[in-house]
Amino acid sequence: MRFDVITLFPELFEPFLASGVTRRAYASGQVQVRLWNPRDHAEGNYRRVDDRPFGGGPGMVMMAGPLARCLAAIRADRAEDQPAPLVLFSPIGRHLDHAAVQGWSASAGAVLLCGRYEGVDQRFIDAHVDVQVSLGDFVLSGGEIAAVALLDAVARLQPGVLHDAGSHQLDSFNPALDGLLDCPHYTRPEQWQGAGVPAPLLSGHHAQIERWRRDQRLLLTARHRPDLLQAARARGQLTRADEALLVQSQDLL
Ligand code: SAH
Repeated sequence: MRFDVITLFPELFEPFLASGVTRRAYASGQVQVRLWNPRDHAEGNYRRVDDRPFGGGPGMVMMAGPLARCLAAIRADRAEDQPAPLVLFSPIGRHLDHAAVQGWSASAGAVLLCGRYEGVDQRFIDAHVDVQVSLGDFVLSGGEIAAVALLDAVARLQPGVLHDAGSHQLDSFNPALDGLLDCPHYTRPEQWQGAGVPAPLLSGHHAQIERWRRDQRLLLTARHRPDLLQAARARGQLTRADEALLVQSQDLL
């Protein structure tokens, strides 16, 4: 799949594209990322990409012209029959979640537009933007962090990117498993600042370890995200043993 990112700060992406396990997804081309700077499509000596808002007020607004020319260059380069959707990162959008990430990771990709300043001229949004995506109910100074979040989450879902093929199956929110939160993890040393490791994890008994992990997923989710537990129940993903544990642990929650 291919993502074309429109950003005034392409250099912000480089470390994320070159580091960590997700680097393999980008290097192998499983997730192709091309960076486009609207400034390269700006006009005049000053290569203006932003201007003052009509009606006054603070801040600057990203101009429609450079964005439209940048988008046209991307569309020509992608040369697709079915144009890839243009995603604008914005507080207006739906919050990014696992289902959306899974959708993108099974898609042909998208064009991602990172806003800056007060945002993007509404006429460009009306003419070209297909979907708006938010990272949450807070305001970032630019869409780049949201774009990196989406790319990273998509890249780690690609086959072969994580060292252990099953690893993301067990991660939080995976509805194919149960959609619950992940269990706690421990590593050496066995004692750290007076704190030990839960006994089942040291038992060497596979079934006991699996039961402990399952119980932890259930309890953590019941405590922190009861909505996810309810959704798992509705999908028929809770066993009798799961329900028994939850009843038994009611006082702990
Ligand atoms: N004036 C806007 C905020 C602009 S912040 C408002 O109050 O809603 C500049 C850019 O950062 C936005 O255009 C958008 O691309 C990005 N951005 C800010 N908050 C975001 C969020 N929660 N999720 C995704 N992108 C966000």
